[in-house]
This record gives sequence, structure tokens and C-alpha cells, in this order.
Amino acid sequence: MHFELAEEHRMLKDLAQKFVRDQLMPLEQKVLAREAEGKGVGLTAEERAPIDEVSKSLGLWGLDAPEDVGGSDLPQVAMIGVNEAIGSTVVAYTLPPDSPNLRMMMATVNERQREAYLAPYVRGETISAIGISEPGAGADPAGMTTTAVRDGEDWVINGRKIWTSRAAEADFTIVMAVTDKEKRRGVSAFLVDGDNPGFKVLRRIPMIGGAFTYEVALEDCRVPGWKLLGVEGQGFAPMQVRLGTRRLEMAAWCIGLAQRALDMMCEYAPQRVTFGEPLSRRQAVQWWAADAATKIHAARLMTYDCAWKLDEGRDVRQEISMVKVYATEMAWEVIDNAMQCFGAMGMTKEMPLQLMASLVRNLRLYDGPSEVHRMVVARNLMGGTR
Ligand SMILES: Cc1cc2nc3c(=O)[nH]c(=O)nc-3n(C[C@H](O)[C@H](O)[C@H](O)COP(=O)(O)OP(=O)(O)OC[C@H]3O[C@@H](n4cnc5c(N)ncnc54)[C@H](O)[C@@H]3O)c2cc1C
Repeated sequence: MHFELAEEHRMLKDLAQKFVRDQLMPLEQKVLAREAEGKGVGLTAEERAPIDEVSKSLGLWGLDAPEDVGGSDLPQVAMIGVNEAIGSTVVAYTLPPDSPNLRMMMATVNERQREAYLAPYVRGETISAIGISEPGAGADPAGMTTTAVRDGEDWVINGRKIWTSRAAEADFTIVMAVTDKEKRRGVSAFLVDGDNPGFKVLRRIPMIGGAFTYEVALEDCRVPGWKLLGVEGQGFAPMQVRLGTRRLEMAAWCIGLAQRALDMMCEYAPQRVTFGEPLSRRQAVQWWAADAATKIHAARLMTYDCAWKLDEGRDVRQEISMVKVYATEMAWEVIDNAMQCFGAMGMTKEMPLQLMASLVRNLRLYDGPSEVHRMVVARNLMGGTR
């Protein structure tokens, strides 16, 4: 057993770090100012275009996508370092294509869907969203009530989705809907185009962390039969593939964010003198740093272990829940201590710490709140009803 990252994966991590340092970090002050005005953290098309050009030329697109549609087919282990780097800044940037829906599609698409949806997605020509959560069902998606009913060759979807990220910008949304009411998880996935007249974006909801989500109504939303993604009534398993991919990404982002907060604290604490001593000589501050370094190390090992097991095709449901809870709560604590260390400066919107904290606060909630992931782990240990 050894813990050395393969040479090519280490080089990729270095490349991603350099990309973040040279391309994203210079935009951070602009993004902070924009978020302070309530305009969110998203990049404008003008800001994004040159960055896209660089990331593409560096070969950072389609890293974990299949080779036959233009990707590099890299394992999950290779993606951890990349996501650590991408997560270390508050400049919101996704290397195309966003991995979670990619993985879900890789597990489900037929030949026609591969050509029409997967291939353009991998080429970075389209963006996507996913609609799982509903006003009455979030942490427990099995309670969703949106239905899809067959009508001749088509499916007709009716219901309401909420908190859907990117719903208004996406070329297509993977909409989860009940197709078998008799089964608790008789849910199927559908590829719904953004311009489908039955797909109605009702409102944009400002979230903390400069994010926006959307509420969407599906009103007699007619979808051709071939846009059923995967097996009818068995949409839960590929949806879990998707959620698992995001949760692992989140863990890597949290490691990047926590490391950034620790680095900031280590640079600042020796300079700031109170009561005749630098903060770095105070045990309280030393322990913040020591505990942060220890927990970042633990989170990194857990995340790589989980990624490796996923690449080996093992069942990692428990590990994914553990990693998601541990990394998000770890980053929350580390960033909070760093904010405390910086005093009033840590509370300003001119510094990234408060935005980093808000980003992590969201991560503790979406793709499963911590309590639900603890429930999954406890159920594995002690058994349970479902
Ligand atoms: C920024 C952001 C982006 C999002 N993007 C998307 C998206 O793109 N697509 C999408 O479908 N959804 C998205 N969501 C929704 C998100 O996945 C849900 O909000 C989340 O799953 C929780 O569902 P809920 O809000 O309905 O909370 P509820 O289900 O009402 O739960 C509320 C709280 O109850 C507690 N709780 C629930 N169940 C248990 C339990 N079994 N044991 C103990 N405590 C429990 C937890 O503390 C939980 O936070 C997003 C959310 C946010 C904040």
C-alpha cells in the first residue's frame, strides 16, 4: 500500500493550481464586489470567454468524460486535486462539462442520447441542470410528486421543482419524475430541453454565497419517448451516481477552501500584534492552525480513499456520506476560526473568508444535509427501516 499520487495526476493537480492562480484569482476582487452588491458570484460572458479559451487549450476540458466523445476518461482519483484547486477560490468556474450530470449520463445514455446530449455536453457546447427537489420533498427525494405519464410515444410531465441550480441558463435539465406510483422509488429521469414550452421557470431565488436557484413548473411538459434517460422506474440508482460524484467534488472543494483559510491565517497571525505578542504566539490561535492542518489532512485522505474505491467499482455509499459530512463541517470550522483570527477584517466583504463560509454553508445542506448523511452511516452500522 502506498499513498503516492500517480505522476500524471500530480502534474494535472499542479496544472489546475496554476490555472486557478493565473486565471481565476485575478478576478476575485471583482467577484467579491459584485457579490457585495447582491449580483451573485457568476462570471459574465466576457469574463468567461478568455478563461474558457485558456482552460481548453490546457486540456482541462472533458477530463473525466469518455474518450469516444472527446474526453480524457480520467479516474475520480485524478479529479480530486483538480477540484481542490478549483474550490480554493470564490470565483465560480466549472471546467466543462460539469461532472455530476456527466456521470449520470455516462451510466444511462443510449446511442441517440449519446449523440444528441452527451457528446455536445462533453464538448462544452451545452450546460445542464438537475431537478430533483420539490417544495414538498428535498432531503427525502422519494417523496417527490412530479409525475410523468405515457401518452402515445411521448411522456407528459406535471409537477413543480425548486432550488434547481442553472434551470434558466441550462440547455437541458434532467428532470426526475414518478412513473410508478406503486413503488416508493418508482422514479425515472428525463432529458427536458430548456425551450420546451411545458418547462416554465417561475422565479430566480437568491441564495447565500452569491448563488441563485430557480423554481420551475412542469405543465403538461411533453417529452418524446426517446428522452427517457436510463430504465423506466429505475432512475434512483443513476441519480445516486450523480449525487455521489458531486459529494466527492464538494469534499475536494472544501479541502481547497479550508487550506486557503489556513494559509491566510498562517500568513496573518505572525504579523498581528495584540497585548505585546503576535497572534501566532497565542495558544488559541496555534490550536486553530494545528487542528485545521490535522483535519484537512484527514479529509484529504478520506476523499482520496473514497475516490479510489469508487474507481475500483466498490460500493462507497457509506464512505461518500462520511466524506461529505466530514469535509463540509471541517471547512466550516476552519474558515470560521480564520474569520475570528482576522477580527473585523474577517467580517468584511472585501475579504473572501465570509464568502468562503457562505459557500460551505450551502454545501452542508445541498445534495443531502449532514443529518441525512449521518442517518445513512448509522443505518449501515445499526440497521434501519429503509
Ligand atoms: C445552493 C443550493 C443549490 C441547490 N441546487 C439544487 C439543484 O440543482 N437541484 C435540486 O434538485 N436541488 C437543489 N438544491 C436542493 C437541496 O438538495 C435540498 O435543499 C436538500 O436536499 C434539502 O432538502 P430541503 O431543503 O427540502 O430540506 P428538508 O427536506 O425540508 O429538510 C430540512 C432539514 O431537516 C433535517 N432533516 C431532514 N431529514 C432528516 C432526517 N432523516 N434526520 C434528521 N434530520 C433530518 C435536516 O437538518 C434538513 O436540513 C439546492 C439547494 C441549495 C441550498
